[in-house]
Amino acid sequence: MISSPLLNQLGGFVDGGWVGAGSKATLSVVNPATGALLARVPDMNAAHATHALESAAQAFAQVPDIERRRAWLEGIADLLTTHRTELARIITLEQGKPLQEAAVEVDYSAGFFSFYAKSLAHLQPAPLAGRIKNLDWTIHHRPAGVAALITPWNFPLAMLAKKLAPALAAGCAIVAKPADLTPLTAIAFWHIAHQLDVDPGRLNLVIGQAAPIGEMLCSHPAVRVISFTGSTAVGKILLEKTAPHVKRLSLELGGNAPFIVFDDADVLTAVEALKANKFRCAGQTCVCANRVYVQSKLLESFARETAERVGRLKVGDGMNPETEIGPLINRASFAKVQRHVQEAIQQGARRLVGCDPPASAEDFGAFYPPTVLIGVTPEMSIAREETFGPVVPITAFDTEEQALALANGTPYGLAAYVFTQDRGRAERVIAQLRFGHVGLNTGQGPTPEAPFGGMKQSGFGREGGIEGLLEFCEVQTVAAS
Ligand code: ADP
Repeated sequence: MISSPLLNQLGGFVDGGWVGAGSKATLSVVNPATGALLARVPDMNAAHATHALESAAQAFAQVPDIERRRAWLEGIADLLTTHRTELARIITLEQGKPLQEAAVEVDYSAGFFSFYAKSLAHLQPAPLAGRIKNLDWTIHHRPAGVAALITPWNFPLAMLAKKLAPALAAGCAIVAKPADLTPLTAIAFWHIAHQLDVDPGRLNLVIGQAAPIGEMLCSHPAVRVISFTGSTAVGKILLEKTAPHVKRLSLELGGNAPFIVFDDADVLTAVEALKANKFRCAGQTCVCANRVYVQSKLLESFARETAERVGRLKVGDGMNPETEIGPLINRASFAKVQRHVQEAIQQGARRLVGCDPPASAEDFGAFYPPTVLIGVTPEMSIAREETFGPVVPITAFDTEEQALALANGTPYGLAAYVFTQDRGRAERVIAQLRFGHVGLNTGQGPTPEAPFGGMKQSGFGREGGIEGLLEFCEVQTVAAS
């Protein structure tokens, strides 16, 4: 069992206090590297969610002034940094990623609180210049209301931070529901936030089964915004369930990121960028390259250099400082990756690196061997679906038009990467890519200062940047005589 000064209370947090500890219905939290039971946390239900929503609605009635919000945001950023090592340990134990990556996640998360603390000036009333229709016009950004935040397991802290920091900055009251696979980081976060002078009901945490809690978040009248990161399938459920209540949604859904390498690219830059991008969190990020398209002349050298580096990656328990790739989150994820690779090989792809993982009857040790495949075609499941694992599927192409058709040939549109030294080509190609985030000669993902989000079935709404703050605001225009 996990023991941590940040986990003295293993419960949800509602109306300024811990709830649910000691309750009969519990969820087990398991270390994906070892299968060890880390904790049992309360499996809260729709009644708990209702209580949280009511207390949030009450807190929302008093919008805190900007200075107070700034103090909270700065305070949380400082406390995250103070507790960096312990938070990283909790993230690694429940999520599996290497400790060093988990520490970077803490820094990244703190960055959202710092950024929004510095962005509060955007919420000042903005008068339009001059008199229009003989009236003075002022644009206000009002907090939208109670914000429900639903987060996934791959970045248990960062996904929360991306939503919670702007929601708090905007003046919303919050009910958060983390993924049931990784609730401990959220509990630790609440332990930290509780040290600040935040009014009761402003920050609520509900842990438990997604469907009944989700149902309540979608239908309760107090909720005005739902910010969700997760699968497209669940995003569609939220769209349907909120439609009768006309709630605002911000959806960051599935991706299927293309990584396009043109003949004129610097091959080693592209290979290093791919390695850093693809294997973070064992390939379980929504911005991970999922399809690698390499122009024919560069194919052989690109594949060779990639295979050489991927073959050296160290797989193991994230608590071991030498580990570069941790386990997948669970056996179901492992089975999906295995299916994609097996189907690709059956349909003609060739494995340059990797092997068949040992069949294990146990539910743990979901370590998938880092793999490189060439000869992947667009029909294969590995190219059509998001694999979410440490596999590089390479496809050759000849022309710019082909590359664009391949890259855009997906219902998803989250992240894409382009490698070329030809500026004209870069501009041409990027303008036609239907992806919300594009890396040019870099595999860099999002940053707190810039808006990030999807096109097409990867969702809508943005996180990060001023756009991320405005997701939690309602615009009110006042015309005064
Ligand atoms: P993933 O495939 O990454 O686990 P999911 O979309 O299943 O993504 O989960 C992302 C988040 O959405 C998690 O917090 C999960 O508990 C929650 N979730 C899953 N189903 C629902 C639902 N029906 N309503 C609301 N939230 C849900």
